[in-house]
Amino acid sequence: MSKIQAIRGMNDVLPEESYQWEWIESAIREWLAMFGYQNIRTPILENTDLFVRSIGTATDIVEKEMYTFVDSLNGDSLTLRPEGTASVVRAAIEHNMTYGKARRLYYCGPMFRHERPQKGRFRQFYQVGVEALGFEGPDIDAEHVLMVAELWRKLGISSNGVRLEVNSLGSKDDRKKYHESLVAFLKGCEQSLDEDSRRRISTNPLRVLDSKNLQTQEIVATAPKLLNFLSDESVEKMERFKQFLDRSGIPYVVNPNLVRGLDYYNDIVYEWKTEFLGAQGTICAGGRYDVLAEQIGGKPIPACGFALGLERVLATLISCEIEIPKENPDVYLVSSDKTAQLYAWDVAKVLRDSNLKVVLHCGGGALKSQMKKADNSGAKFAIIIGDEEMAKKTISLKSLRLAGIKGASQQQELSVHDAIKRIYEDGALTKITKSGMLGN
Ligand code: ATP
Ligand code: MG
Repeated sequence: MSKIQAIRGMNDVLPEESYQWEWIESAIREWLAMFGYQNIRTPILENTDLFVRSIGTATDIVEKEMYTFVDSLNGDSLTLRPEGTASVVRAAIEHNMTYGKARRLYYCGPMFRHERPQKGRFRQFYQVGVEALGFEGPDIDAEHVLMVAELWRKLGISSNGVRLEVNSLGSKDDRKKYHESLVAFLKGCEQSLDEDSRRRISTNPLRVLDSKNLQTQEIVATAPKLLNFLSDESVEKMERFKQFLDRSGIPYVVNPNLVRGLDYYNDIVYEWKTEFLGAQGTICAGGRYDVLAEQIGGKPIPACGFALGLERVLATLISCEIEIPKENPDVYLVSSDKTAQLYAWDVAKVLRDSNLKVVLHCGGGALKSQMKKADNSGAKFAIIIGDEEMAKKTISLKSLRLAGIKGASQQQELSVHDAIKRIYEDGALTKITKSGMLGN
């Protein structure tokens, strides 16, 4: 029979890599708590209309990237979420979440887009997103940028590894005024644009500025700039936003052609880019979306947010050679025979009750091969139990990781209580040497 394989662009994450995911997710949760953001969990499936009405019809996502299907049981058109913001705003409206109070929210989970899989671009990928609902800004917009800058610092990504680009899309009226001069410009060079962009001159000309086509990018670099069409109010917001960034010493460049790939944005938008990932260099992107709630049938909610692409953040960490710690067991327990294994079984419980991470060898085999497995497990210690240990109610403790340090690799016969003490002492010892090596 033929082998069944995973869907292209949808990856399995095996234990050899999943520890990196767990590490980054827990670092991210700590970081979000530092800024008072609360978790929101929305379904992965939504009514297709939600994304069509929020993201916009003339966008890459809605035109060609959504996994949409008809639920054969009731005929509804459903879509696997391609992004998280629309769902969060939908939930906020549905549960009246911003009634009388503003909300700082975050989500974390898989998104789905039918794109051509390549480095940094997948069909199922993971985002951590932050949404602040009920805030006029731009103080909160700046808070979001500060948060991300802090995250890079926390993860060890140096500030020359990532670059922040910002822009203002102004209000709807500002964009209306700009529209005319942009369309005139684009019509003047229509023949040199890529096919999608030619089509979008009439449907959604702003999107042309976001084209991935290199020739189109070169042409639009000389297009009239939306920044010159902003109202005083939008200019003021942008200036205040920059004031906060300057206060935190966060470097940025203004990119007047940055428009983002979704239609719901207004005023401040930004992207964090890295040189490490080639064409897929945007690792975080966000902005303000004051009109989104109305677009999907709610009352207006001033709001802004951003999303981090987790695969790209991880790839950046790896490119920066940042070492991600592995969660190894503290102890691997081996035993000489079936009777000794019963005693080992009880010892394992005592160790776990003392908060140690313990792997009990299962499946029998010679002591030598069990010790090999102990070594491969990455555990710091092996505990060996044979007839003698059983008779004396002791254990033999062997350090597996500190060979080279005098006496460390010798086997010691100890009471279980003393063994636990010894393991904890060693934990303190390795922590000190590690931070000593890092020089902080
Ligand atoms: P791109 O310009 O790379 O297509 P986008 O503008 O479509 O990105 P957003 O919708 O803003 O991306 O999503 C936010 C972040 O999610 C991106 O900056 C990126 O890090 C990540 N991301 C988007 N699409 C993918 C994908 N197909 N695979 C992996 N990560 C992705
Ligand atoms: Mg995209």
